[in-house]
Amino acid sequence: MTPQPKRRHSKSRTRQRRAHDGLSAVKIVRCKSCRQMRLAHRVCPNCGVYAGRQVLSVEENA
Ligand SMILES: [Zn+2]
Repeated sequence: MTPQPKRRHSKSRTRQRRAHDGLSAVKIVRCKSCRQMRLAHRVCPNCGVYAGRQVLSVEENA
């Protein structure tokens, strides 16, 4: 015989466990380099800077 739970969890217990399962909205911050909005912990798509360092070459189309 395989191990089985002795009794069923209550709805309350299940819901208490799932209280921490929610997703949060993506964090958007202002780029220190070019002052545009960008995703947190991502290379800035506008100026190519990450953590104060140039990591991508920027194509200027203007
Ligand atoms: Zn930037």
